[in-house]
Amino acid sequence: MTEIAKNHQAPSVVAGLADAARGRWLEPHRGLIAFIAGQMQRCQAHPARTVVLLPFAQLMPVADRMWASAYLDGFAPRFETTRNWSQALGGCSHGSADLSFDMALDTLTARALLDAAGLAAQREHLSASLLEMAYQLAALAAAVAPDQRAAWAQGLRPVLQAGLDGPLLAQEAALTSVALAWVASSSYITDALFTPAATQGVDCLVLLQGFEAEPIEQTLATLFGERFAATPIHAETTQGQVALHAASDMEDEAQQASGCVMQHLQAGRTPVALVALDRALTRRVRAMLEGAGLRLRDENGWKLSTTRAGAALMALLRACAWNASTDAVLDWLKNGVAAADDQALRSLEHSLRQRAVRDWSAWRGDEDMADVVTLTEQVNAWRLSLQRSRPLGLWLSGLQELLQATGQWAALQADRAGSDVLAALHLHRGTELLGDQPAAQFLWTARRLSLAEFTTWVRQVLEAASCSPLYPVDEQVVIVPMNQLLGRQFAALVVPGCDEQHLNPASEPPGRWTAAQRLALGLPSRQTLQASARAAWQHALQTPVCDVLWRQSDEAGETLLPSTLVQALQLETAAAWAVHDPRRLRSVATTAQRAPQPQGNRLPVSTLSASAYDDLRSCPYKFFALRQLGLREVDELDTEVDKRDFGNWLHEVLRRFQEALRVQPDLALNARAALLDATAQGVSDAIGLPPEEFLPFAAAWPAVRDGYLLWLQAHEQDGAQFEQAEAWREQTIGAVKLVGKIDRIDRQANGLTLVLDYKSEDQSKTKQRVANPFEDTQLAFYAALLPDDELAGAYVTVGEKQGTTKVSEDQIVDVRDALIEGILHDTAQIAQGATLPALGQPPSCDYCAARGLCRRDSWTEVANV
Ligand code: SF4
Repeated sequence: MTEIAKNHQAPSVVAGLADAARGRWLEPHRGLIAFIAGQMQRCQAHPARTVVLLPFAQLMPVADRMWASAYLDGFAPRFETTRNWSQALGGCSHGSADLSFDMALDTLTARALLDAAGLAAQREHLSASLLEMAYQLAALAAAVAPDQRAAWAQGLRPVLQAGLDGPLLAQEAALTSVALAWVASSSYITDALFTPAATQGVDCLVLLQGFEAEPIEQTLATLFGERFAATPIHAETTQGQVALHAASDMEDEAQQASGCVMQHLQAGRTPVALVALDRALTRRVRAMLEGAGLRLRDENGWKLSTTRAGAALMALLRACAWNASTDAVLDWLKNGVAAADDQALRSLEHSLRQRAVRDWSAWRGDEDMADVVTLTEQVNAWRLSLQRSRPLGLWLSGLQELLQATGQWAALQADRAGSDVLAALHLHRGTELLGDQPAAQFLWTARRLSLAEFTTWVRQVLEAASCSPLYPVDEQVVIVPMNQLLGRQFAALVVPGCDEQHLNPASEPPGRWTAAQRLALGLPSRQTLQASARAAWQHALQTPVCDVLWRQSDEAGETLLPSTLVQALQLETAAAWAVHDPRRLRSVATTAQRAPQPQGNRLPVSTLSASAYDDLRSCPYKFFALRQLGLREVDELDTEVDKRDFGNWLHEVLRRFQEALRVQPDLALNARAALLDATAQGVSDAIGLPPEEFLPFAAAWPAVRDGYLLWLQAHEQDGAQFEQAEAWREQTIGAVKLVGKIDRIDRQANGLTLVLDYKSEDQSKTKQRVANPFEDTQLAFYAALLPDDELAGAYVTVGEKQGTTKVSEDQIVDVRDALIEGILHDTAQIAQGATLPALGQPPSCDYCAARGLCRRDSWTEVANV
């Protein structure tokens, strides 16, 4: 025995360390520290030549602390994970076709191997399965000495191919064969363990076992012989105090889980472990706890694809597709493209929405607005730079250049998740992956990828990689996977998500292996996995105070049962059921919520449209919010064709038809019908309406067309003549400019102007409009846009079932004059600071976009008094 080893004291002599909280590590004689020290003594090992392997990296500081507690001074053994130790020994050099455990590279290698195996046609849907198989086999292959791997694979091949002879299973057999060959020909970082530096540099190697056996354990036992020892970290101890909480749904479960955490912290139990069984639920609980100002350490992390940085990158790629929708391009430009001028972008969006341009490729730029033209050209140049096929290295450098040009690169670098995104995609290594150097020649280096393939690759990489936020110095709550509770000390435990779906100990083993193949490979059986899951559960419940939560219904409202592990717990510990909700009711002083009454005099009303004035009349606050503040909703462009699209289409068809008819007014009815059909087709083609979406409206078209032509014939026989359609007009009255587009202007036989407005509503509704002329301002507003003192006005309802009918507004001049007087009065009142109250009257409120702003649903009758 060396002098240093002799001087070590057994942990049992360290006063005060045998308390229950640290028992498994520090228990005299049977604790983990005692086991390690005992093995060191047995091997006469110096601590510097002793390595203790741990199942996961988070245990390394714990083990260091525990050793320091037992041995106040002197040397400590090296606490390592297998991977860290291998890395310290120098790892190994990877070949260009090796499995690298880097999803970005392995995804491409898997595709290249499938191509080489004659499975190119199935490449896209088989690559994920091949990767899954390879990752499972890799742990087994890595446990075999590098020079014996080929023989190992040779021996396994007939066993794995057994029963896969038929043509139906040929693909499965090929996949198995490729996966086996791939893992057998790869080098692994743990190959360093087979070198003399590892085997001769260590006097004592101790393996602390997790819940599942590691394939490398048996290999290490053989390599290190008498110098090797292993012991499980987990040991049976008494169960903690468990409370069970059944929640109605996910939101209720998240609130109760947050309440449990807060209760533990208020009782002085820190840190609290929050077990992550369900990603979505964990994120919700995390948001609530962060909102309460708690310090969290999230060891679970979240997928890069769900981060803002990941979403921004995917938005860029979607916007660069040749068939990108206008929404996709706007989504990209409005989320992080610093190089786009804000004002120009607003104008561009306004133009696109006004013209309902669904596909970006249909947009030619607005020639009246120089900044919009410039931005459009810039966006097209950016998009063009990513549309050619090229090898991955060129994709990465091209993407980097575009990110830099748009100002997104610096933002990604400055953001923690953003820099993880750049690293996961090797975006800083673009030129390295070009294959300039022999070492960088991968199987796929020269393969050209289309933008769609590159986008799929980026999506897969971001789905596979995780981002972990920075850890606080002194955390109150640790978000942790169930397996990583092992060997760690928490004052309290909260486990939400314990329903039959998210905590199922009897779930199918991962991968496509049959039970016989798993046995032949030495992969854990279903029973073994089940036993591990139960052991992890039992270990978790040894925390002094535990809260177990589950929900009784899923997102679709379907009933969910508690996990079988919870059901067993219910039988064993019926008395432990929580009888009170962990949430606490707080009294909040009631404050009457009054309807808002802002003043709008600092936002002068300079222009007014018919619909804006209608807003002012129906609810002054609505006018203030939507028109003066400009808080209007924007319509999605990439939505299905609806009645409004049909209305716009019909207006354009009738305009073109009437203008064409002006030069050939004597066409017979049949010829007019043919002309109208041709016009309709021309408009459909120009707008680019998807025929399948337009089908319901196309089916109604013949009846609409015939009804319109019959009405037109009678209208012309009355002496009316078409003059103009879709006519933009402006008229200044006082300090306000009235603006609007008039559907149609005709000239009557008596020489008077006839202003017409098309409607596609039921005729009874149109008749209702003219029955209360001073309530309906639309037609009168259009009359006010024209210079005529005397004129006529009418609505024209165009429909499928009721044909086309003209509903005249006989008092239009009186109504127009009253309207102008009203506009002058109302705008003067606004300018003088009159209040603009929210009236809260139906039907204005029913579909009002400002309902959330005025808080219509929060007022009470009393509050409004
Ligand atoms: S919801 Fe009603 S009260 Fe509120 S702004 Fe709209 S119309 Fe006015």
